[in-house]
Amino acid sequence: TIGMIAIDADSQIHAGTSTNGARHKIAGRVGDSPIPGAGAYADNEVGAAVATGDGDVMMRFLPSFLAVESMRAGKPPTEAAALAIRRVVKYHKDFSGAVIAVNRLGQYAAACYGMAEFPFVVSNPSVTDKATRVETVK
Ligand code: ASP
Repeated sequence: TIGMIAIDADSQIHAGTSTNGARHKIAGRVGDSPIPGAGAYADNEVGAAVATGDGDVMMRFLPSFLAVESMRAGKPPTEAAALAIRRVVKYHKDFSGAVIAVNRLGQYAAACYGMAEFPFVVSNPSVTDKATRVETVK
């Protein structure tokens, strides 16, 4: 899954996903990616989050919604992403996946579980070098 979050020049916050779904999926499987709150969620007042991993598990916990609501309650993105992952792992110890959270100020973080590290790409066109870089969370 590719999860994307963007804050545009008018401070509108967007989130989206693109996925090939699960390996050997049955015909008609929807998965978590297109479900608001599961694969992605955005609220201009707060921020946005996207998720990747076992969608059949994640869609039961709405991790993207949970991360955004955690930021609404005052948590920084780093805690919001970790909290969303922890909620899934509490019930599924063999889970493997990641959540990225961005608040409306553009502060961001990711959390992952079941993998050594999770790479994600960050870009800020409003800074001078406009560089896109890969960051990693363990
Ligand atoms: N979440 C996707 C799905 O289960 C898979 C993925 O993130 O790689 O459809």
